[in-house]
Amino acid sequence: MQDKEIKHQPGCEDELNTGLLSVAEAQARIMDGVSALTAAETLPLRETLGRVLAENIISPINVPSHTNSAMDGYAIRAADLPAEGVREFLVPGTSWAGRPYLGPSGPGEAIQIMTGGMMPNGMDTVIMQEQVERDGDMVRIGTGHKPGQNVRAAGEDITEGQAVLAPGKHLTAADTGLLASLGLAEVSVYRRLKVAFFSTGDELRAVGEPLGPGEIHDSNRYTLYGMLKKLDVEIIDIGVVKDQRELIEQAFKKAAGCADVIITSGGVSVGEADFVKEILEKLGSMSFWKIAMKPGRPVTFGQLDDAVFFGLPGNPVSVMVTFFQFVRPALLKMSGETDAASVYLVRARTTTALRKRPGRFEFQRGVLEQSVPGEFTVHSVGAQGSGILRSMSEANCFIMLEPEQSGIEAGQEVLVQPFQNLI
Ligand code: AMP
Ligand code: MG
Repeated sequence: MQDKEIKHQPGCEDELNTGLLSVAEAQARIMDGVSALTAAETLPLRETLGRVLAENIISPINVPSHTNSAMDGYAIRAADLPAEGVREFLVPGTSWAGRPYLGPSGPGEAIQIMTGGMMPNGMDTVIMQEQVERDGDMVRIGTGHKPGQNVRAAGEDITEGQAVLAPGKHLTAADTGLLASLGLAEVSVYRRLKVAFFSTGDELRAVGEPLGPGEIHDSNRYTLYGMLKKLDVEIIDIGVVKDQRELIEQAFKKAAGCADVIITSGGVSVGEADFVKEILEKLGSMSFWKIAMKPGRPVTFGQLDDAVFFGLPGNPVSVMVTFFQFVRPALLKMSGETDAASVYLVRARTTTALRKRPGRFEFQRGVLEQSVPGEFTVHSVGAQGSGILRSMSEANCFIMLEPEQSGIEAGQEVLVQPFQNLI
């Protein structure tokens, strides 16, 4: 006798979501599972911009190297400041920035000085030129000045021997400027991470090719390429690979031979033609996780020879969400960054109602706006399907809805993760 009812298999829309891994747990496991590069290279200063510092920087000099004036004005001895009334000083010369006054200057004399000009011997105080009266080779200075004012001491910014930057620092414009101020022409940075990726699917066609019945254009290699570009890694695009065991295996071997990280999209669901898991189990080691999140539930994380492997879902939005939440922080850590550029979370009032069922963490696509300086509102971009890439294109943030949260009414506050300029 046959069963009268159809037994349901576990599916993506289960509300119970038993056995699912939390987003935080998946993130923690991934971060624990990757380690930083150690290989480094020495590069001319400008080429280190955006790279990760691999050495300790100890200042070889004082910055500034000499005590100098912070203003255009007149350098004098504090002891010569008048207690009352006005005092006249003889001006025997001028100290320009880079052209110090090296002549004699005695008590009761003032040296005209420019911003950055070296303080003449024995002088310790600068009076702004707007606060004096100049008359030929004399200058008149009144009361109301403080001893030592308007002077920048040698080593005030950095002293010789001081630790300035540590390995793991992502080098910004300020950092390369700082390194330049120390006179360093080249520094050691970690080598770039090599990241290979490919798309899987028989239905995928390259851009520029016409679509046959049931076919779609491969967009994941474009979103992945774009997001990797922002990270200053070496990108190796292996292309589209058909859902055939041998071809996928070949692609994996090729990627493992040339990259530190392999990213694939598609082919990790339970469809019969999904070989990614199977091949990885054979060639390396892997964990397959169903994560309590939407979009982007199945994610594979593993190792293939020396390469770390991320198997992302095929749906275009899922790829972007899982890359941003799991792969990006891991790549930053692997690149050697210890100050991994934080992604800030912002509180914002939603101006649209947000639909949600309790159970999974949702990364809904939204538009964050600053209503008045320092105050933010957010609205949903609308349709939230994991295949609707337009929703990512219109959005500038993820609206982060915790698993236990249900629908949110307009006017309530939500937590938002802005991604503008990061992807
Ligand atoms: P899969 O994980 O391979 O079952 O794919 C899930 C969904 O994402 C299917 O609708 C695929 O057609 C789609 N998809 C997979 N890979 C890509 C890709 N590279 N570009 C666009 N859509 C894709
Ligand atoms: Mg597929």
